[in-house]
Amino acid sequence: MNIILLGAPGAGKGTQAEYIVAKYNVPHISTGDIFRKNIKEQTPVGLKAKSFIDQGKLVPDEVVIELIQSRLSEDDCKNGYLLDGFPRTIAQAEALDKITKIEKVVNIDVDLTKLLKRIVGRRVCVACGASYNIETYDKPDCAKCPSQLIQRPDDKEETVRARLEVYQNQTAPLIEYYRAKGVLKSVDGMQTISEVCSRVEKVLEQA
Ligand code: AMP
Repeated sequence: MNIILLGAPGAGKGTQAEYIVAKYNVPHISTGDIFRKNIKEQTPVGLKAKSFIDQGKLVPDEVVIELIQSRLSEDDCKNGYLLDGFPRTIAQAEALDKITKIEKVVNIDVDLTKLLKRIVGRRVCVACGASYNIETYDKPDCAKCPSQLIQRPDDKEETVRARLEVYQNQTAPLIEYYRAKGVLKSVDGMQTISEVCSRVEKVLEQA
C-alpha cells in the first residue's frame, strides 16, 4: 500500500510511522530524516538543505522532488511505502501524482496551539533517532541504545513558530487536495499514542 502520513510538525507522524511500517512491512520514507542524514554526512544535498531547515523554512520543491523520485525508484518501494513529511506543498503533491499512485492519506489532526509545547519538549537520540518528550521522559540518555538525547536545532521555539506558520500556509492546503481525491482519512491526534495508533490502524483497514 502507498501511504502518506500528513500532519503538522510535532503531530506524532514519526511515532505513528514506526507502527505502520512494522505492521505493513513497507519502507518508512521521511524526507526530514533523509535531509538530516545528508547534513550529517555533508553531502551536496545536505549542504543545500541545511540553511532552509535551520531557519524552519521548506527546502525548495525541486530539491525534495528529485530526492523522492530517486528514493521511490528503489527496489524496496515496489510493494508500497509510507511517506512521512512529503509532500509538504501542492507543487510536491502534483509532482508525486506524476510519479506514483497514492492509495491512502492519513491526516493526524492536532490543535496547533498545543503543538509548540510538544515540539519544544521533544528530544531525539543522536544514534538511533528514537524520539521522547521531556514531559514523559526527562533523562539525558536514550532508553533503547543508551546514547545521548539532544534537541533538534529546528525544535527551538523560534524555529518551531516559523515551521508551524509554514505548515499552515503551505502544507495544510494538502488536506483539501487529498479530500477532493477521496483518499483522505483524518484521525484525532490529540489522544494518547496508543489510541491514535489504533485509529490509524482502523482507517488503514477501511476500503
Ligand atoms: P521533518 O523532520 O519532517 O519535520 O523535517 C525537518 C525539516 O526538513 C523541515 O522543517 C523542512 O525544512 C525540511 N523538509 C522535510 N521534508 C520536506 C519537504 N517535503 N519539503 C520541503 N522541506 C522539507
